[in-house]
Amino acid sequence: MENFENQKFCQSCAMPMTEELYGTTADGSKNEDYCMCCFKDGEFTSDGTMEEMIAFCSEKMTEVHPEMDQEEALQMMNEIFPKLKRWAKD
Ligand SMILES: [Zn+2]
Repeated sequence: MENFENQKFCQSCAMPMTEELYGTTADGSKNEDYCMCCFKDGEFTSDGTMEEMIAFCSEKMTEVHPEMDQEEALQMMNEIFPKLKRWAKD
């Protein structure tokens, strides 16, 4: 996959991002770590838990990929999410 190493994923919801999807900081510049759904004007748009985010995203994921079952989506996200910047516990 070309440029895969440069692919950015939202560090909150794991969505693959292109530049148009970057969130915005308080001064209106781009935030490359989070997507516009998660991060807007310098703040997270929701302050839910990682579990809530996983539940929400796995539903979206199975809407976009009907061939994927929810169990599979959940399993994948339970692996990815704890590694994302927003949820990682150092
Ligand atoms: Zn996001």
